[in-house]
Amino acid sequence: MARMITCDACRKSGNGDVPGTVPLTIGPDEYDLCEPHAKKFRTHFADLFGTTKENAA
Ligand SMILES: [Zn+2]
Repeated sequence: MARMITCDACRKSGNGDVPGTVPLTIGPDEYDLCEPHAKKFRTHFADLFGTTKENAA
């Protein structure tokens, strides 16, 4: 049985069917986020820490 990876942020708000395509690691914690949530978190961290090196990869 394939294990579906779902967005942790969506699941937290009651929607467990959204695929989590973007992995997020903070220290030892790992999360999976959908594209909109990933974008939201990136914007949030950019606000917190100032400029980011976006698209460095
Ligand atoms: Zn989400």
